[in-house]
Order: sequence, then C-alpha cells, then structure tokens
Amino acid sequence: MGNNIKHLLKRYEITPNKELGQCFLVNWNLLQKEVGYANVGRNDVVLEIGPGPGNLTELLAQRAKQVIAIEKDVRFRDILSDLQARYNNIEVIFADALEVDFPNFNKAVSNLPFKVALPLIFKILECDFDVAVLLCQERLAQRICAKPGQKGYSRLSVQISRLGNAEILKIVPKSAFVPQPEVNGAVIRIRKTKPDFEVPSDEFFKEVLKFMFSQRDKTVQETILILKSVGVSEKGVNRALSQIEKRILYRRIHTLKPFEFGKVSQALWNTLGDVRKAFYKFYELKGLYKNS
Ligand code: SAH
Repeated sequence: MGNNIKHLLKRYEITPNKELGQCFLVNWNLLQKEVGYANVGRNDVVLEIGPGPGNLTELLAQRAKQVIAIEKDVRFRDILSDLQARYNNIEVIFADALEVDFPNFNKAVSNLPFKVALPLIFKILECDFDVAVLLCQERLAQRICAKPGQKGYSRLSVQISRLGNAEILKIVPKSAFVPQPEVNGAVIRIRKTKPDFEVPSDEFFKEVLKFMFSQRDKTVQETILILKSVGVSEKGVNRALSQIEKRILYRRIHTLKPFEFGKVSQALWNTLGDVRKAFYKFYELKGLYKNS
C-alpha cells in the first residue's frame, strides 16, 4: 500500500503540499481499522474530509451506501474521478471544508489535515450524526478526550463533551505516513450526544471556560474572587459565590466535571450578567491570550 500511494502520486504527478497537511496514511491495516471503528455498513452515508488520493475513500466506498468527500486541492481531480469510475457511490466536492456547507451524513471518517483539524472537528460536531472516526494530531486528541483531573483536561475537553463522547482509539506513529508529519497522530471516535446540562449561552460558556482554565490549579472560589480586581463589585462577587454549591466551590478547576462548569457559568450569569469585560481586563493585566 505504501508503495501504491507513492506510485499513484508519481503517476498523477502530484507532489505533497505540506501547507495542506498532505501526509498520506499508507498503512492499509490502519485504514481498514478506521473503517471498522466507525462500523461502516450499507446504510451509511459517510462524510470524508480531505480524500487526497482516495486511499481511505476506496475502503469506505466498498462498505458504505454513499461516500461524500470534500477536497480542497483540485490536483486530485483525475485520481478521484478514476476512482469514481470504479465505484458508483462516491461523490466528490472540490471546496474548502471550512467554507462549504456540509451535506447530510450519519458517519464521518476522515484523516484530517492537522493544521485545521480543530475547526473541522467543531464544524462536524455542529451537524447531526451518529459517529465520527477522525485522525488528528496526538496532542489535540489528548486535549479533546481527557477526562476531569487527567493530563490535557482543558476547556476544549469540556466544550466537546457537551456535544459528544470522545475517546482515543489508537496512536498513529509518524512513520505510518508518507511524507512523515512532524508529530504523531491519533485516531479518535466521537459519538454524538445531546447536551446533558444547560448553559446560559454557548458563547458565554466558552468564555467562562477560558477564564476558569486560565487558573486551572486554583479553586473555583479563588478564581471567582479574582473578578474583584477587575471591576466587579465585592457584593456581586459574594452573591455569585453564594450561588455555587460548596462541593464545587472548593475544588480545583482542572477537577471539575463538565456539568459543574455549567453550574458555575449559570451562577455567574444569574448574579453578574455578562462578565466578559472583566475577563478581558484580567487577561490584559496578566498579558494572557494576546492572540485569541
Ligand atoms: N485521505 C488521505 C489524505 C489525508 S491528508 C489519507 O488518508 O491519507 C489531508 C487531506 O486534506 C489532503 O488531501 C488535503 O489536500 C486536504 N485538505 C487540506 N485542507 C483542506 C480543507 N480546508 N478542506 C478540504 N480538504 C482539505
């Protein structure tokens, strides 16, 4: 398979473009495993982002009802239309997956371009689907899948856990790709779920997570007390604290469960309203998040 891909690229005169994350998975066993992890069958409409030379696309087409692939690089047009000539259940959309509306699908299986893996994962999660099996960089996979208290547990883990259950299935060494990427990859599986707790608004929840995780080793109480130093009244802060259960208040941020962050954000919203200005003032003071 490794040689196949190399030959294929040569035959179609394609040199990998690293800017577009063109590191191809040449381990056939692993590609088969990915299809298996998603349990792809005859009833499934599968979304694939970044088919490239179609190595994964072909295996998906052999099992699925339909594969809809979105590829940004038109240099793969010939290679993919030759594949379409052999399978009648492949649709290819040449577009930037970040820009184009996704079609309906019930499963997503993709070896994602590493550079834009995170926004693509969020975009997939906005859709209605059953399961997604995605290969991304190992560190991102850890941050997405970490549970409370674990290394890598972050605002990202909490945000994602509201939308689905994510797990790491396999670490993929650099050597499995041609050309090799700078870091290892990992295959994750996300089963879509309904949010199991309320938040005042998704935007506000995101900002609360960002603020709280900037203090990941502090307690909830200590973190909220900071607001006094950035323009929130003492009375307001005390009111917020009084609305948070003791068993949450004295815990460290990195140990809170997602629904507990939901409770904190609800308490802040109820008592203080939109405190995002105070958060920003704090980042400014601390020189945090200059670029985001
Ligand atoms: N499916 C192949 C290729 C993975 S490499 C394999 O498994 O080996 C990532 C692929 O994503 C490349 O084909 C690259 O051209 C494509 N890509 C990169 N950015 C993209 C974007 N924004 N939208 C759609 N495809 C993109």
